[in-house]
Amino acid sequence: MNIAVVGAGICGSVMAYECIQLGHNVTVFEQDMSKQSCSFTAAGMLAPMAELESANTHVYELGLRSLALWPNIISHLTKQNHAVFYRDSGTLVLAHKQDANSLSQFHDVLQRKLGNFNESVSVVDPRIIEPELINFHSALHLKQEAQVDSHQVLNALHNVIGNQGELRLSRVDSVACHHVNGEYFDWVFDCRGLAAKQEVNLYGVRGERILLHAPEVNIQHMIRVMHPKYKLYVVPREDYHFIIGATEIESADDGPMSVRSALELLSAAYSVHKGFAEARIVSLNTGVRPTRLDHQPVVDVKGGLTRINGLYRHGYLLTPALVEQALTAELFTKACGQQLVTH
Ligand SMILES: Cc1cc2nc3c(=O)[nH]c(=O)nc-3n(C[C@H](O)[C@H](O)[C@H](O)COP(=O)(O)OP(=O)(O)OC[C@H]3O[C@@H](n4cnc5c(N)ncnc54)[C@H](O)[C@@H]3O)c2cc1C
Repeated sequence: MNIAVVGAGICGSVMAYECIQLGHNVTVFEQDMSKQSCSFTAAGMLAPMAELESANTHVYELGLRSLALWPNIISHLTKQNHAVFYRDSGTLVLAHKQDANSLSQFHDVLQRKLGNFNESVSVVDPRIIEPELINFHSALHLKQEAQVDSHQVLNALHNVIGNQGELRLSRVDSVACHHVNGEYFDWVFDCRGLAAKQEVNLYGVRGERILLHAPEVNIQHMIRVMHPKYKLYVVPREDYHFIIGATEIESADDGPMSVRSALELLSAAYSVHKGFAEARIVSLNTGVRPTRLDHQPVVDVKGGLTRINGLYRHGYLLTPALVEQALTAELFTKACGQQLVTH
C-alpha cells in the first residue's frame, strides 16, 4: 500500500520503519529535522516497572510488550550498519538514608499494583552491583528494564526511511482519512505528537534534562533516586556520558531550562556521586510531552487514518507495542488484504 506517516518523532519513525519491513511504500512528512522534537530530548529509558510509581498496569503491560519487541528492531538496524546503543542491565532504585521511607513506599506500590513480582525485582546492596555508589545501602534492582540511545535510534530509523522510503521535509497543514495536504494515500498514520492537540485533546507536560560528560563516574545501571518531592534519574550512556533528569511541569513552554531546575538537577546528581562535580555540561534540553488528561496513550483507527498519540513520558517505552497494535487493527489489515486482491 502507499502509506503516509506524519511526524518523524519516535512514534512516526518506528511506524514508518515497520511499514517498510512489511513491504509498503512509505512517505514520511516531517516539518523540522533539526532534532528539536520531544523524541530527541528523551532519556530513552524502557522502564515499565519504575514508571509504575505513577503509571497504571495498562502502561506496564504495553511496556513489557515493547521490551520484548525492541531487541528485534535494534538487531535489524545493526544488521543494516546502524549501530544503536541498547543496554538491558536494569534499573537500581535507591534512596538516601533520610528518605528510606520513599523506597519502601515504592516497594508497596509495586506490591499493590503487581501482586507477585519477586522474579523481576531483587532487594540488593547497591554497592555490590555499582561499587561507586558508596552513599547508598539498600536498593531495588528492577532486572528487566533497558535503555536505548534516543538520538542514535532516531538517526538510524531516519536513515532507513530515507533509503528505503521517502522522508519529505515538509509541514503538513491537513491530515484526514486517506489524505495528507490533499494528496491521496491508501492509509495515513498521524504521529504529530502535541501538534495534533485539537484532534486528540492533548496538553503539554514540560520535561528537562542535562547531558553530562563525567569521566570520574563509573556507573553502568540506570539509577532512580526516590525522594518525597524531588525524584532523580541518571541514565549512563556510552563513553562516560550521563543523562540527568527529573522535573515535570504542566506547561507547553519549551523555552530554555531555568536556573532553579539546573541547580536542583546538578545538586541531586552530585549527591549520588561526587565525581559529577568535575563533569562537563554537554547540553541542557527541554521538551514538551504530548499528554492526554488520563495520561493514557491512544490508538484511534478509522477507515484510511490511524492516530497514535498521548505518549506522555513513555514514548520509547510504548511505541513498539502501540505500532504493533495499529498494524494489526482489523480495519488496517482488511485494507491491506483488499489492496492485495485488486493488484
Ligand atoms: C526530558 C524528557 C525525558 C523523556 N524521557 C523518556 C524516557 O526515558 N523514556 C520514554 O519512553 N519516554 C521519555 N520521554 C517521553 C518521550 O520523549 C515522548 O513520549 C515522545 O517523544 C513522544 O513521541 P511522539 O513521536 O509522539 O512525538 P514527538 O517526538 O513530538 O514527534 C512528533 C513529530 O511530528 C512533527 N510534526 C508535528 N506537526 C507536524 C506537521 N504539521 N507537519 C509535519 N511534521 C509535524 C514534529 O516536528 C515532531 O518531529 C521523555 C520526554 C522528555 C521531555
